Amino acid sequence: MKGSVVVLTGAGISAESGIPTFRGEGGLWKNFKPEELATPQAFAKNPKLVWEWYDWRRQLIAKAKPNKAHMLLAEMEKKMNITVITQNVDGLHQRAGSKKVIELHGNIWRVKCTACSAEYELYETPLPEIPPKCKYCGGLLRPAVVWFGEPLPEDVLSKAFELTKECDLFLVIGTSGLVYPAGYLPFLAKQHKAKVVEINPERTPISEIADISIREKASVGLRLF
Ligand code: NAD
Ligand code: ZN
Repeated sequence: MKGSVVVLTGAGISAESGIPTFRGEGGLWKNFKPEELATPQAFAKNPKLVWEWYDWRRQLIAKAKPNKAHMLLAEMEKKMNITVITQNVDGLHQRAGSKKVIELHGNIWRVKCTACSAEYELYETPLPEIPPKCKYCGGLLRPAVVWFGEPLPEDVLSKAFELTKECDLFLVIGTSGLVYPAGYLPFLAKQHKAKVVEINPERTPISEIADISIREKASVGLRLF
Protein backbone atom coordinates (compact mmCIF):
# COMPACT_ATOMS: atom_id res chain seq x y z
CA MET A 1 0.00 0.00 0.00
CA LYS A 2 1.27 3.47 -0.86
CA GLY A 3 2.88 5.28 2.03
CA SER A 4 2.80 2.34 4.37
CA VAL A 5 5.31 1.93 7.15
CA VAL A 6 6.33 -1.26 8.94
CA VAL A 7 8.30 -1.04 12.17
CA LEU A 8 10.18 -4.10 13.36
CA THR A 9 11.04 -3.86 17.04
CA GLY A 10 13.24 -5.99 19.28
CA ALA A 11 14.29 -6.09 22.90
CA GLY A 12 16.25 -2.81 22.49
CA ILE A 13 13.10 -0.69 22.31
CA SER A 14 12.14 -1.84 25.81
CA ALA A 15 15.64 -1.38 27.26
CA GLU A 16 14.79 2.21 28.28
CA SER A 17 11.82 0.80 30.19
CA GLY A 18 14.27 -1.16 32.31
CA ILE A 19 13.69 -4.55 30.67
CA PRO A 20 17.02 -6.20 29.88
CA THR A 21 17.77 -7.31 26.33
CA PHE A 22 19.03 -10.84 25.72
CA ARG A 23 22.39 -9.84 24.34
CA GLY A 24 23.09 -6.68 26.29
CA GLU A 25 24.26 -6.00 29.83
CA GLY A 26 22.04 -6.88 32.75
CA GLY A 27 20.22 -9.59 30.84
CA LEU A 28 21.67 -12.45 32.81
CA TRP A 29 19.64 -14.23 35.46
CA LYS A 30 21.52 -16.47 37.92
CA ASN A 31 24.37 -16.70 35.36
CA PHE A 32 22.25 -18.53 32.78
CA LYS A 33 22.28 -17.38 29.18
CA PRO A 34 18.77 -16.83 27.71
CA GLU A 35 19.67 -19.40 25.02
CA GLU A 36 19.97 -21.97 27.83
CA LEU A 37 16.50 -21.20 29.18
CA ALA A 38 14.28 -20.16 26.27
CA THR A 39 14.27 -23.56 24.58
CA PRO A 40 11.91 -26.56 24.55
CA GLN A 41 14.87 -28.73 25.69
CA ALA A 42 15.49 -26.59 28.78
CA PHE A 43 11.79 -26.71 29.64
CA ALA A 44 11.60 -30.50 29.21
CA LYS A 45 14.62 -30.92 31.48
CA ASN A 46 13.72 -28.43 34.17
CA PRO A 47 10.33 -26.68 33.90
CA LYS A 48 10.69 -25.24 37.40
CA LEU A 49 13.94 -23.44 36.51
CA VAL A 50 12.52 -22.05 33.26
CA TRP A 51 9.38 -20.87 35.06
CA GLU A 52 11.45 -19.19 37.79
CA TRP A 53 13.18 -17.18 35.06
CA TYR A 54 9.84 -16.30 33.45
CA ASP A 55 8.42 -15.33 36.85
CA TRP A 56 11.37 -12.94 37.32
CA ARG A 57 10.86 -11.45 33.85
CA ARG A 58 7.08 -11.17 34.35
CA GLN A 59 7.66 -9.20 37.56
CA LEU A 60 10.09 -6.84 35.80
CA ILE A 61 7.66 -6.30 32.94
CA ALA A 62 4.71 -5.75 35.29
CA LYS A 63 6.64 -2.92 36.97
CA ALA A 64 7.86 -1.41 33.69
CA LYS A 65 6.12 1.37 31.78
CA PRO A 66 6.12 2.05 28.04
CA ASN A 67 8.88 4.57 27.24
CA LYS A 68 9.02 7.54 24.82
CA ALA A 69 9.80 5.28 21.88
CA HIS A 70 6.70 3.12 22.42
CA MET A 71 4.65 6.33 22.87
CA LEU A 72 6.00 7.97 19.71
CA LEU A 73 5.10 4.90 17.64
CA ALA A 74 1.58 4.92 19.09
CA GLU A 75 1.30 8.63 18.17
CA MET A 76 2.50 7.93 14.62
CA GLU A 77 -0.32 5.42 14.16
CA LYS A 78 -2.82 8.28 14.38
CA LYS A 79 -1.20 10.06 11.45
CA MET A 80 -0.01 7.34 9.09
CA ASN A 81 -0.49 3.80 7.93
CA ILE A 82 1.89 2.04 10.27
CA THR A 83 2.09 -1.50 11.65
CA VAL A 84 4.40 -2.64 14.40
CA ILE A 85 5.86 -6.12 14.06
CA THR A 86 7.48 -6.92 17.37
CA GLN A 87 9.72 -9.70 18.59
CA ASN A 88 9.01 -8.58 22.13
CA VAL A 89 6.75 -10.49 24.46
CA ASP A 90 6.25 -7.63 26.96
CA GLY A 91 3.07 -6.07 25.51
CA LEU A 92 4.45 -2.51 25.96
CA HIS A 93 3.44 -1.38 22.44
CA GLN A 94 -0.20 -2.14 23.20
CA ARG A 95 0.09 -0.50 26.62
CA ALA A 96 1.43 2.65 24.90
CA GLY A 97 -1.67 2.69 22.68
CA SER A 98 -0.52 1.03 19.44
CA LYS A 99 -3.42 -0.89 17.91
CA LYS A 100 -1.80 -2.52 14.89
CA VAL A 101 0.73 -4.80 16.55
CA ILE A 102 1.86 -8.21 15.34
CA GLU A 103 3.55 -10.24 18.07
CA LEU A 104 5.92 -12.63 16.32
CA HIS A 105 7.03 -14.43 19.46
CA GLY A 106 3.86 -14.42 21.54
CA ASN A 107 3.16 -12.68 24.82
CA ILE A 108 4.59 -13.32 28.27
CA TRP A 109 1.15 -13.02 29.91
CA ARG A 110 -0.27 -15.93 27.93
CA VAL A 111 0.16 -19.57 28.91
CA LYS A 112 -0.45 -22.83 27.11
CA CYS A 113 -1.22 -26.23 28.64
CA THR A 114 1.21 -28.99 27.63
CA ALA A 115 -1.53 -31.60 28.34
CA CYS A 116 -4.84 -30.26 26.94
CA SER A 117 -3.43 -27.41 24.73
CA ALA A 118 -5.73 -24.80 26.31
CA GLU A 119 -4.31 -21.29 25.92
CA TYR A 120 -5.27 -18.38 28.15
CA GLU A 121 -4.04 -15.24 29.90
CA LEU A 122 -2.46 -15.53 33.31
CA TYR A 123 -1.60 -12.17 34.87
CA GLU A 124 -0.89 -13.17 38.46
CA THR A 125 2.60 -12.03 39.44
CA PRO A 126 4.59 -13.34 41.22
CA LEU A 127 3.12 -16.73 40.42
CA PRO A 128 1.61 -18.43 43.47
CA GLU A 129 2.91 -21.83 42.33
CA ILE A 130 5.94 -22.71 40.19
CA PRO A 131 5.54 -24.37 37.77
CA PRO A 132 1.91 -23.21 37.32
CA LYS A 133 -0.81 -25.77 36.50
CA CYS A 134 -3.64 -25.63 33.97
CA LYS A 135 -6.91 -24.27 35.37
CA TYR A 136 -8.86 -26.77 33.23
CA CYS A 137 -7.00 -30.07 33.58
CA GLY A 138 -4.20 -29.52 36.13
CA GLY A 139 -1.55 -30.19 33.45
CA LEU A 140 1.81 -28.43 33.27
CA LEU A 141 1.58 -24.95 31.74
CA ARG A 142 4.24 -23.35 29.57
CA PRO A 143 4.63 -19.71 28.53
CA ALA A 144 2.82 -19.16 25.20
CA VAL A 145 5.91 -17.70 23.61
CA VAL A 146 8.10 -18.90 20.75
CA TRP A 147 11.33 -20.40 22.02
CA PHE A 148 14.62 -20.77 20.16
CA GLY A 149 14.29 -23.62 17.68
CA GLU A 150 10.48 -23.43 17.55
CA PRO A 151 8.57 -22.37 14.45
CA LEU A 152 6.54 -19.15 14.40
CA PRO A 153 2.76 -19.46 14.00
CA GLU A 154 2.16 -19.62 10.25
CA ASP A 155 -0.66 -17.04 10.09
CA VAL A 156 1.41 -14.51 12.06
CA LEU A 157 4.48 -15.03 9.89
CA SER A 158 2.64 -14.83 6.58
CA LYS A 159 0.96 -11.56 7.65
CA ALA A 160 4.38 -10.16 8.61
CA PHE A 161 5.84 -11.21 5.24
CA GLU A 162 2.94 -9.71 3.33
CA LEU A 163 3.16 -6.32 5.11
CA THR A 164 6.95 -6.28 4.74
CA LYS A 165 6.80 -6.90 0.98
CA GLU A 166 4.24 -4.14 0.48
CA CYS A 167 5.62 -1.33 2.63
CA ASP A 168 7.47 1.77 1.43
CA LEU A 169 9.41 2.36 4.62
CA PHE A 170 10.75 -0.37 6.87
CA LEU A 171 11.98 0.89 10.21
CA VAL A 172 14.03 -1.44 12.43
CA ILE A 173 14.42 -0.52 16.09
CA GLY A 174 16.46 -2.23 18.79
CA THR A 175 17.02 -5.64 17.32
CA SER A 176 20.32 -7.46 16.91
CA GLY A 177 18.86 -9.11 13.80
CA LEU A 178 20.29 -12.43 14.91
CA VAL A 179 17.00 -14.18 15.62
CA TYR A 180 15.38 -15.70 12.53
CA PRO A 181 13.02 -15.44 10.72
CA ALA A 182 12.46 -11.94 12.21
CA GLY A 183 16.00 -10.94 11.21
CA TYR A 184 15.17 -11.74 7.60
CA LEU A 185 12.34 -9.19 7.34
CA PRO A 186 14.56 -6.10 6.74
CA PHE A 187 16.26 -7.97 3.87
CA LEU A 188 12.89 -8.93 2.41
CA ALA A 189 11.73 -5.29 2.63
CA LYS A 190 14.89 -4.14 0.85
CA GLN A 191 14.41 -6.74 -1.92
CA HIS A 192 10.94 -5.31 -2.46
CA LYS A 193 12.34 -1.78 -2.79
CA ALA A 194 11.38 -0.34 0.58
CA LYS A 195 13.66 2.17 2.24
CA VAL A 196 15.22 0.57 5.31
CA VAL A 197 16.05 2.73 8.32
CA GLU A 198 17.70 1.32 11.44
CA ILE A 199 17.75 2.80 14.93
CA ASN A 200 20.25 1.05 17.19
CA PRO A 201 23.22 2.37 19.21
CA GLU A 202 25.24 -0.60 17.89
CA ARG A 203 26.04 -1.83 14.42
CA THR A 204 24.14 -4.98 13.37
CA PRO A 205 23.96 -7.18 10.24
CA ILE A 206 20.99 -5.00 9.19
CA SER A 207 23.31 -1.94 9.07
CA GLU A 208 24.84 -3.48 5.91
CA ILE A 209 21.66 -2.94 3.91
CA ALA A 210 20.10 0.01 5.75
CA ASP A 211 19.61 3.19 3.70
CA ILE A 212 19.98 5.16 6.90
CA SER A 213 21.49 3.97 10.21
CA ILE A 214 20.71 6.10 13.23
CA ARG A 215 23.19 5.20 15.99
CA GLU A 216 21.01 6.32 18.86
CA LYS A 217 18.78 4.86 21.52
CA ALA A 218 15.24 4.20 20.36
CA SER A 219 13.66 7.23 22.10
CA VAL A 220 16.27 9.65 20.69
CA GLY A 221 16.33 8.18 17.17
CA LEU A 222 12.56 8.19 16.82
CA ARG A 223 12.34 11.89 17.65
CA LEU A 224 13.95 12.55 14.26
CA PHE A 225 10.77 11.31 12.54
P1 NAD B 1 18.70 -8.75 21.35
O1 NAD B 1 18.81 -8.80 22.84
O2 NAD B 1 19.32 -9.81 20.54
O3 NAD B 1 19.30 -7.36 20.83
C1 NAD B 1 18.95 -6.13 21.40
C2 NAD B 1 19.40 -5.03 20.47
O4 NAD B 1 18.92 -3.80 20.99
C3 NAD B 1 20.92 -4.91 20.32
O5 NAD B 1 21.25 -4.81 18.94
C4 NAD B 1 21.24 -3.59 21.05
O6 NAD B 1 22.33 -2.89 20.45
C5 NAD B 1 19.94 -2.83 20.88
N1 NAD B 1 19.66 -1.83 21.93
C6 NAD B 1 20.04 -1.83 23.24
N2 NAD B 1 19.54 -0.74 23.86
C7 NAD B 1 18.85 -0.04 22.93
C8 NAD B 1 18.10 1.18 22.97
N3 NAD B 1 17.97 1.91 24.09
N4 NAD B 1 17.50 1.59 21.81
C9 NAD B 1 17.63 0.88 20.66
N5 NAD B 1 18.33 -0.26 20.58
C10 NAD B 1 18.93 -0.72 21.70
O7 NAD B 1 17.15 -8.62 21.06
P2 NAD B 1 16.31 -9.15 19.85
O8 NAD B 1 16.98 -8.82 18.57
O9 NAD B 1 14.95 -8.61 20.09
O10 NAD B 1 16.31 -10.75 19.99
C11 NAD B 1 16.15 -11.47 21.22
C12 NAD B 1 14.88 -12.29 21.37
O11 NAD B 1 14.43 -12.30 22.73
C13 NAD B 1 13.70 -11.69 20.66
O12 NAD B 1 12.74 -12.64 20.41
C14 NAD B 1 13.25 -10.70 21.72
O13 NAD B 1 12.11 -10.02 21.50
C15 NAD B 1 13.26 -11.54 22.95
N6 NAD B 1 13.33 -10.65 24.14
C16 NAD B 1 12.23 -9.89 24.41
C17 NAD B 1 12.26 -8.98 25.44
C18 NAD B 1 11.02 -8.16 25.70
O14 NAD B 1 9.91 -8.59 25.42
N7 NAD B 1 11.18 -6.94 26.20
C19 NAD B 1 13.43 -8.83 26.22
C20 NAD B 1 14.53 -9.64 25.92
C21 NAD B 1 14.48 -10.53 24.85
ZN1 ZN C 1 -4.90 -28.31 30.48
